[in-house]
Amino acid sequence: MVMAFNVYESPALKFELVAKCNTTRARASNLTLPHGPVQLPLFMPVATQASLKGLTYEQLEQTSCRLCLNNTYHLGLKPGQETLDAVGGAHKLQGWDHNILTDSGGFQMVSLLELATITEEGVRFLSPHDGSPMLLTPEHSMSLQNSIGSDIMMQLDDVLVTTSPDAARMRLAMERSVRWLDRCIAAHKKPETQNLFCIIQGGLDLEMRKECCEEMVKRDTPGIAIGGLSGGEAKDDFCRVVETCTALLPDLKPRYVMGIGFPEDLVVSVALGADMFDCVWPTRTARFGAAVTRHGVLNMRNARFAHDFGPVETGCGCNCCLSVEKGGMAVTRAFVHHNSAKETVGAHLLTIHNVYYQLNLMRQIRESIISQRFPDFIKEFFGNLYEDKKDYPTWAVDALRRVNVDLMK
Ligand SMILES: [Zn+2]
Repeated sequence: MVMAFNVYESPALKFELVAKCNTTRARASNLTLPHGPVQLPLFMPVATQASLKGLTYEQLEQTSCRLCLNNTYHLGLKPGQETLDAVGGAHKLQGWDHNILTDSGGFQMVSLLELATITEEGVRFLSPHDGSPMLLTPEHSMSLQNSIGSDIMMQLDDVLVTTSPDAARMRLAMERSVRWLDRCIAAHKKPETQNLFCIIQGGLDLEMRKECCEEMVKRDTPGIAIGGLSGGEAKDDFCRVVETCTALLPDLKPRYVMGIGFPEDLVVSVALGADMFDCVWPTRTARFGAAVTRHGVLNMRNARFAHDFGPVETGCGCNCCLSVEKGGMAVTRAFVHHNSAKETVGAHLLTIHNVYYQLNLMRQIRESIISQRFPDFIKEFFGNLYEDKKDYPTWAVDALRRVNVDLMK
């Protein structure tokens, strides 16, 4: 029986809190979106141009991914809003029947286009096609995301690198992000079928983050993101922002920390109370020949793999590593090594493995939260990753101590 006090429902989303860790702030929950259910905590791979580099949607589906991220900026440029409207959105365009989350497009512009400037109206930039001046407003971002038809849409926010020393500009960005959320809410045309998430800003200033949390929570969006992180700030500062925000957020809504993907960051962030993450790193690093494993990242271009006929990771259930008898491709490290420097197939195989690794890590985290073994899982995870406790990163040890897990004991 589902108890009502564990469930939050809005028109296009249902959030059910399944378990809370007795020690840390970790949670396991079920999130039902317009294109089906997903289990949290969750990692979302990024499919920039409506395709995950090297992977077909069938292959992405095989990794067990049911929610991936598309970039509004890229889709808005190509195929463009008219084509998206004509075909009926990004799900149809891509042949992807599962969930999609889209960013607002703003961050991509500011980071990709040197001449982008931000005013109260929106983000001004020069078209990469013909150099003509363009403007992305909160209204335009909502219109684009409505045309994309994403299950989760992100508000346009004013993103500033967290390490910016300009406190006045940081305050302006935080307050402007709240004003832009109001404009996004007013402009969102499909709240019955698409969820709009707010984004908490405020840099590394914890008081400003608290203030922003309070304002954003009042707006009652179906999900809440913590933004602006992963921009070169110290990991210790990152953790303090996440834990400050999660402490103030409602229990019964999904909490998404944007731009996070290193396995250690995921494990620690879940312990601090976050549920959803995305990052280009696991797929990008695959293209450079790197395999993510429980014993750390392996550079498959290293000559030591030339005669290694084992799988990329022993015991891995991905299609690349799995034996032929179990329906996999039984790819060897030697084969990946042979292809990793020159052929796209190497990147392709590692992308399958890396995406699976991330999704499987989150699944293991979830199971351990439900069975109240999460603190032990964290210890095993770090034990596998480092040969010696003295190599454990201090920021992780400190952050985990604050949620009652002592890695050194
Ligand atoms: Zn694998």
